[in-house]
Amino acid sequence: MKSSYKRRQFLHHMGQAAVAVPGLSMLSFDALSESLISAEDKLTADNKQAKKLGIALVGLGQYSEEQLAPALQETKNCRLAGIVTGTPDKVGKWKEKYNIPDKNVYNYLNFDSIKDNSDIDIVYIVLPNSMHAEYTIRAAKAGKHVICEKPMATSVKDCEAMIQACKEAGKMLSIGYRLHFEPHNIAMANYGSKKTFGKVKKIIAIDSQEMEAGAWRLDRERAGGGPLMDLGVYCVQGALYTVGENPVSVSAKEGEKTDTERFAEVEQSIDFQLEFPGGAVANCHTSYAEQGNTLRAEAEKGWFELDPAYGYDGLKGKTSKGDMDIENVNQQALQMDDFADCVANKKPTRVPGEMGLRDVKILMAIYEAARTGKPVALKLA
Ligand code: NAD
Repeated sequence: MKSSYKRRQFLHHMGQAAVAVPGLSMLSFDALSESLISAEDKLTADNKQAKKLGIALVGLGQYSEEQLAPALQETKNCRLAGIVTGTPDKVGKWKEKYNIPDKNVYNYLNFDSIKDNSDIDIVYIVLPNSMHAEYTIRAAKAGKHVICEKPMATSVKDCEAMIQACKEAGKMLSIGYRLHFEPHNIAMANYGSKKTFGKVKKIIAIDSQEMEAGAWRLDRERAGGGPLMDLGVYCVQGALYTVGENPVSVSAKEGEKTDTERFAEVEQSIDFQLEFPGGAVANCHTSYAEQGNTLRAEAEKGWFELDPAYGYDGLKGKTSKGDMDIENVNQQALQMDDFADCVANKKPTRVPGEMGLRDVKILMAIYEAARTGKPVALKLA
């Protein structure tokens, strides 16, 4: 979905959907209602902000080039103001295409001098996973607010250091969890939390994609793991916001490697099960050697599902009562506009660093469960 018309339609639709309609966010579920930002808040955001905040993208790979930079042409509260890249060949094209002045172009060595640049309010880290911590911390020390891509980092310790650095600098940190701004996924969370089909008993979440040999995502050092880190995190997120609880236990089993060369360093696939305190169970599967994109909830009085569930566009939803009639939107534009609104108006983000940390704790527990063959208990805040 590219047009601002559809974006307006979504905001309109969300406005009509009533103030009580929550978003997806939750950390501790006791705090659920506090952390939710109503659709009506979102509608008023555009009126509150006088100046578009400047965003600098760090890492000009596929996601920056194909999704974030185009989305920043549709945003109302923020704009693409700068770039940070280690590849000088990319600079000319980006400068020309997005009208970026020389003074807003950085490389990884001079990145810290971004602190003197008042055009840049927010730094968006779009680098391989193992680099998220270093650049988030450097951005915070340079006095910038930060959006960091998922997974937040490759260890719990790194996530904690990122949160601490932003806290010390007095800057906001959010994770690039775009689906919290996506209306099909918001509908799943609403059906779950409002018990529209009764209490959710079972979740099935699958996110799988082929990964070509040689990609950094197959390098344990840079990716922190395989499909679980990259795609499985969507299954974790989907299960949590649909059930509306944090899991208390995980068990997991790594799949067989049919291509031992491609998957020499990371898992080819993994199945995992999350158990929730209210009795719901999520059965999840993620793989780099097949296709799959589903989030399904089975509840006491019916079912609801998305297929595809986690893409940028073309999401489709069905329930036991019929199709979901929901427009696709530009998720990244809504996500970045919301963060700019939070920064400008000192509001908490619905996708904070603490949520990224919670999820990395779950991912690490899944790996531990697969390694040991035993369930791992989780004590999440
Ligand atoms: P990519 O490989 O296309 O881009 C990575 C960028 O990092 C490139 O510009 C590359 O030059 C740069 N880089 C710097 N040092 C590097 C190194 N040592 N090794 C490899 N690249 C290096 O990757 P991408 O798909 O743009 O993913 C970047 C991040 O964004 C990842 O954390 C990924 O999980 C996340 N992502 C999120 C979504 C989403 O939907 N939220 C989608 C895609 C990617």
